Formats: sequence, structure tokens, C-alpha cells
Amino acid sequence: MIEVINLKKVFDNGFEALKSVNFTIEKGDLVCLLGPSGCGKSTILNMIAGLLTPTSGDIKFSGNSVVKTEPKDRNIGFVFQNYALYPHMTTFENVMFPLTVGKNKKTKEEAQAIAEKYMKLTNIEELRDKKPGTLSGGQQQRVAITRALVQNPEVLLLDEPLSNLDARLRLKIREEIRRLVKEVGITTIFVTHDQEEALSISDKIILMNEGVVQQDDDPQNLYLEPANLFVAQFIGNPIINILPVEVRDGQMHYEAFSVPVDRFVAERFKENMPDGNYVLGIRPEDVLPVAGEGAFGATVHGVELIGRERILNFEIGSHHLKSIVSIENEIQEGAELTFDFAYQKAFIFKEDGTRIY
Ligand code: ATP
Repeated sequence: MIEVINLKKVFDNGFEALKSVNFTIEKGDLVCLLGPSGCGKSTILNMIAGLLTPTSGDIKFSGNSVVKTEPKDRNIGFVFQNYALYPHMTTFENVMFPLTVGKNKKTKEEAQAIAEKYMKLTNIEELRDKKPGTLSGGQQQRVAITRALVQNPEVLLLDEPLSNLDARLRLKIREEIRRLVKEVGITTIFVTHDQEEALSISDKIILMNEGVVQQDDDPQNLYLEPANLFVAQFIGNPIINILPVEVRDGQMHYEAFSVPVDRFVAERFKENMPDGNYVLGIRPEDVLPVAGEGAFGATVHGVELIGRERILNFEIGSHHLKSIVSIENEIQEGAELTFDFAYQKAFIFKEDGTRIY
């Protein structure tokens, strides 16, 4: 449905915001563009909407290039983080507005019927006569999305739509957005820097950094099979544990332990790992206290309770690690424990961040 091909953007000041970006989005999918601030997410969205011109490359909708098409002719609904509702209009008037002007202009009766249909779908009927100034952030966001949907766009673009909402409301509205776009069957691109938000609602995630796509994949693959060290560190909360290690004589050495390399990697892989320096990545749920022998001992210096789990904080050598255990495991600060790895769950990266295992 949407193809982004070798898309590049160099701004007037010479800054290269996008370096040859490629991806495709299937019809009806909800796709998140995810990445840290400044990675180029909004630049991509603005080029898809036609508000920015690419330096080179192409954008196609259903096989047809749209880069020369005016924004108003691209059949896109765009919702920004600041909602941009008309303050002097009621909810109903705001929702109906796109149907009273331009190429989508309808008769008054038709416009009213369409507005009412979508207000029902988004559960904002009771806000009908209120003005934006009297609505909460979540309500304003629902109105803005409804106003985008009445135009029956082919593509819905949402740029950080939940960033002005408090944490609890974000959870609620993101579920509503997923339900809604699936119900309407509209192809949707959702920009966020919040990995949890992206993991929870997307059919697919495109994770960016510094103008380059790092991984374009199913949400669970970003967690289970990260393409590189950046992805492994960006996805997951608490963040993955990282240790610089050296492989020598069949052993993996770190300041505080030495273990045979073949515990971490399958036999077939050993030849791909010449001696040298690597980065070991292991998620907090894969470093656990054990009763018997383990890889290393450590003193727990902090315990955080997060709902059903406890996060244990400790140092090994000069690095800080985290381990997640169940709430029933009543470990206290100061406990001296032996830890072991779930070796087969570990990732191994080259020093440049390329994943090799
Ligand atoms: P955020 O999450 O903070 O909105 P983003 O990933 O959406 O970030 P973009 O807004 O796409 O990032 O910006 C990408 C990069 O391009 C940033 O480094 C930004 O400073 C730069 N940039 C954006 N617009 C311009 C411009 N008109 N001229 C020069 N540089 C720009």
C-alpha cells in the first residue's frame, strides 16, 4: 500500500536527516515509526503527507508515486500532537469542518450524518456541544482523530498523538486507537519515541536512529531477535544488560567471570567467533539468582518493586546489572547472591554494534 524507496532528506543547512530510507506498509496495517528524538520520524511523516519535499527517492501509494502530488490530493488524515482543533467551534462543528470545505465538501445533511457516524465510533457523542477549551487532553485527541477520519482518508498519520496525555490515559487511548483503526480498516502510521507504546499497538515497527532504519519487523522480533546493539538497547524495560567481553582460548572473559564460549553459542557458530573483543547483551530476566553454582557472585544494592516483579540491582566488575525476579522472591538489599545466565538467550555483538549471535 505505502512504499518508501531510497528516501533521503538533506535540509537547507546541509543536515542529512534521512539517509536512504526504505520500507513498505501493507494495506490496513498499523505501523509504528519508533526512535529517539531527532532520528527523523516526523521528517518521514511530513514527506508522506506532502508537507516536506524529499531530496531524493520516492513515495508510492498503491504503486503510484505521490511525491509530485499536492498534500490536499493525497487523501491523508493527519493528527499532530497538539491536536490543532478550532477553539471557537464545538466538537460537532470541528468534526464536520473538513466536510464543509474543499474537495470533500458535502451537503449539510450528508456532512452531519457522517460526523455523527464517526462520533459514535469514537465515543465522543456526549462532547458534541462542547468547545475544545473545556475538553480534557484525551477528549481533544479523540475529537482530532474523529476529524481526520470523517474525510475517509486512505492513510491516517498520527504524530506522537498521545504525548500530551498522562500515563494512565495514554494506555487507554492507545488501545482505543488500535481498536478504531482496525474497525475502520485504515492504513495507519503512528509516530512515537515510546517503545512500550509501539510494542503494544503495532502490527509492525520501523525503528530508526540517526536517519537510518535499524530494524523493520514484527514487534516481538525486535525484542527477541534485535538486529543490532542499538535495537537491543532501545527495546525492553528495564534496559538490556551490556558487558564488554573478550573471547580467548574458547573462554568468554569478563572482569568478574570466565565461562566457556560454547555455553553461549551453538557449536556451529564457534568458528564465526574468532578471538577478540565483543559485547555481551543479556536481558534482566535472563540473569537470575541460583541456589547452586553460577557464573558469578554479587551483592544486591537495590531492590525495586514493579507490580508482580522485583528488579535487583548489583555490580559485577565495573558494570551495573539488573535482574528481574518474581515478587514472591523476597530478596532484600544487601543480599549476597550467586547469579547465572540463561546462556542460550544471550546476544553477542561486535564492538561496532553488529549482532553476530
Ligand atoms: P522528535 O521525536 O523530537 O519529534 P523526530 O525523530 O521526529 O524527533 P525530526 O523532526 O524528523 O525528528 O528531525 C530529524 C532531524 O532533522 C533532527 O535532528 C532535526 O533537528 C533536523 N531538522 C528537522 N527539521 C529541520 C530543518 N527545517 N532544518 C534543519 N534541520 C532540521
